[in-house]
Amino acid sequence: MNQRLQVAIDGPAAAGKSTVAKQVAGQLEYIYIDTGAMYRALAYHALKTHTDLHNGERLSELLDASEITLEPVKQGRQTVLLNGEDVTKEIRSQSVTNHVSLVAQYPAIRQVMADRQREMAAGGGIIMDGRDIGSHVLPNAEVKIYLIASVNERAERRYQEQLAGGLQTSLEQLKADIRQRDKLDSEREVSPLIKAEDAVEIDTTSLSINDVILRILEVIKERV
Ligand code: C5P
Repeated sequence: MNQRLQVAIDGPAAAGKSTVAKQVAGQLEYIYIDTGAMYRALAYHALKTHTDLHNGERLSELLDASEITLEPVKQGRQTVLLNGEDVTKEIRSQSVTNHVSLVAQYPAIRQVMADRQREMAAGGGIIMDGRDIGSHVLPNAEVKIYLIASVNERAERRYQEQLAGGLQTSLEQLKADIRQRDKLDSEREVSPLIKAEDAVEIDTTSLSINDVILRILEVIKERV
């Protein structure tokens, strides 16, 4: 595919965005950009430096002093650097997951993140996943996908992932965490989680990863 499009993939927590986005990017030789990882890196930095998560100004200062780098995907993994330090694993911790939506609610922080994301997307040939990409960050993206799945299915997938990674967690707790994050992300005042009008919605509840990838590739082909 010669055309270097901008592809936005949005949707609620644990809907499978990053798994499929990475694979679609690999097939098209596009750059994958995980915007959630950027918010997670900031939340991690704030927790580590004991910054008050209720103080937007302090968090903005911290973001100004944070260089967040997303490296090209290698073997299905995107390394995330915070001021040069590899924090790929740390930003997936329970503590970061539970606090990231709080950090992501501040307008000034979202503004800086969106500017950085637009810069990364400027040349096209990118697949960017998040919550507000199609609706706010890249309103002119040629392809917009909105991925959803039931809370039960999303929690079950996370549960299996965590079990496979040797983590013992509770399915009920995962459901509660996902509901809470959905609520914060959808109800925040600035650029909340919302389906862009021109996005194609795909309900992945009863689809395999491969089905979802094929469907997204179809949509991309239609737009070329
Ligand atoms: O995608 P992921 O679940 O890793 O995102 C973590 C959190 O970062 C989300 O729950 C949301 O609060 C925030 N986020 C956001 N806007 C984005 C991407 C992520 O607010 N574009």
